[in-house]
Amino acid sequence: MTADAVRSLSFDDYLATITRFTDEELIPAEPAMVASGEVPPGLVARMAELGLFGITLGREHGGLGWSVEQQVRLTMEFTRASVVYRSRFSTTIGLCSQAVAAHGTDPQKADLLPAFAGGRTVAAFALTEVSAGTDATALRTTAVRDGDGYVLNGTKRYITNGHWADVLLLFARHEDSGALSAFLVDRTATGVTTRLPAQMNGHAEAPVAEIDLVDVRVGRDALLGGVEGEGLRQAMRGINHARIHVAATAVGQATRLLQEATAHATDREQFGRPLLDLGALQSSLGRSYAELEAGRALVLDCAREFDRSGPPRERISAAKLYCTEMASEVADRAVQVLGGAGIVGPHPVPRMWRDVRALRIYEGASQLHERNLARALPALLSPVERNTHA
Ligand SMILES: Cc1cc2nc3c(=O)[nH]c(=O)nc-3n(C[C@H](O)[C@H](O)[C@H](O)COP(=O)(O)OP(=O)(O)OC[C@H]3O[C@@H](n4cnc5c(N)ncnc54)[C@H](O)[C@@H]3O)c2cc1C
Repeated sequence: MTADAVRSLSFDDYLATITRFTDEELIPAEPAMVASGEVPPGLVARMAELGLFGITLGREHGGLGWSVEQQVRLTMEFTRASVVYRSRFSTTIGLCSQAVAAHGTDPQKADLLPAFAGGRTVAAFALTEVSAGTDATALRTTAVRDGDGYVLNGTKRYITNGHWADVLLLFARHEDSGALSAFLVDRTATGVTTRLPAQMNGHAEAPVAEIDLVDVRVGRDALLGGVEGEGLRQAMRGINHARIHVAATAVGQATRLLQEATAHATDREQFGRPLLDLGALQSSLGRSYAELEAGRALVLDCAREFDRSGPPRERISAAKLYCTEMASEVADRAVQVLGGAGIVGPHPVPRMWRDVRALRIYEGASQLHERNLARALPALLSPVERNTHA
């Protein structure tokens, strides 16, 4: 399908195309992906061809111009397939493209956004360090002014796509002011080296990277938006966007897990009848469906609010917290429905059970969202706020 053909589709036709791509190409390719340990390059090319790298960018930047609600509906479809496929492009479309679109200079936008949207340039978001996990403000990577540019030194860890990205959106602290800035760094620049971990427990085919920066020289034009000291504010634009996408991802994963568990409970008989007729499993599967639909409704409602009036930060936190915990519960129950097949052998459910666990850790671990929500409760529970969402 040509780029022009993709761009001419209505949203409903595009959604149907992505649903078919998920069912006919992504899900059937999972065993081969697991065997090879990576997302097949041919499928990454198909994702780019179908415009998946451009779903979050406006048409003026070469994207498809879908609303946030449409983006999460698409995400709920393609994340019925392994979450690893999404990881391959998530950092480009969420964390990085949104920060550049909202805060980049005109040349940065012109240089990067069409290349992001077309899948020609892969971006990784390099914030986390040994000292800076949940507390991102504790980062120690330094930026020292050097003539008209900067010299960067430090080590990042757990960076999705960090090993093969073309560009890093990288956060560092100015040695003189102590302020944090975001830099656009060529991943192949002299002084940048990356390593993959010896082992991943979940997301095995999308390993995160450790990135060393030793005297990496960048020009002044590498500073996002051309301003110093705005790094965390700029990062939050991408992070809020990515969080709602992670919540939608949890819904997509839980949908597939429930489909797989229901199929198994329908086919397998014990005591002379299908497992689906057994009361205890009905309780587990029925509860999973109710929780899945609660999560889906919350994500869609947040997305509509995002489209109306910008990111509803606390409600996005609530959606990210609820949906990722929900998906873990649904996964755990699905393993139980499968019995031994949930532990032994190649069934997709146990692989997904490991994969969804990570969703509760990245884009803010659950405890961070609980804390943020607890602190905001007086405002969130006020009559005005309550009735806004009634
Ligand atoms: C698969 C994967 C992909 C990732 N991709 C990226 C990426 O692309 N870019 C990037 O920059 N980072 C990435 N990360 C890193 C991720 O954002 C961090 O792992 C996360 O922020 C948690 O930091 P930490 O691992 O250092 O845990 P810690 O911060 O050490 O937290 C450990 C535990 O303590 C809890 N905790 C911490 N502080 C508090 C508190 N104040 N109150 C209560 N509980 C608290 C946490 O919730 C958690 O349960 C990725 C991580 C994973 C697992």
